[in-house]
Amino acid sequence: MSVPREGGCACGAVRYRLTSEPMFTHCCHCLNCQRQTGSAFVINLLIEADRLELLAGDPQPVNVPRDDGSAQRIFRCPECQVAIFSEYGRPEVRFVRAGTLDQPDGVAPDVHIFTKSKLPWITLPDSAPAFEVYYDSKVLWPPASLERLAAIIAPASSDA
Ligand SMILES: [Zn+2]
Ligand SMILES: [Zn+2]
Repeated sequence: MSVPREGGCACGAVRYRLTSEPMFTHCCHCLNCQRQTGSAFVINLLIEADRLELLAGDPQPVNVPRDDGSAQRIFRCPECQVAIFSEYGRPEVRFVRAGTLDQPDGVAPDVHIFTKSKLPWITLPDSAPAFEVYYDSKVLWPPASLERLAAIIAPASSDA
């Protein structure tokens, strides 16, 4: 990555920089993500919390109920309320919403998940694997990304 990726909210109060490439990039077609975004899916960049460098502003967490009874923390700009990133019970990993990047065309999903609720008019590309629900990160993630994840979390857990 020659130039670090940067992004922010709509009003400009929140600005951030990713100090490295993400560990992995999800395209999630679950109903929670559809409801939260008002769209067909969400694209999340999974990255260590300390590699999401805030340049301006202080995104505020909102606890959002999910269909499985759990809560997801969505961090929003305190001014314009655009969602910047999420936390799924594990503050060490940020799920950065790719649509907030200045150049969202610079990333592409590494995997499509929860395709069981994918909208029927979406045709997925062959360039990334797709799963009805979830996948085994130990199989799919590059070794370097698995090492990064192991460096920040306790063993034996799974992603949302
Ligand atoms: Zn804003
Ligand atoms: Zn989802």
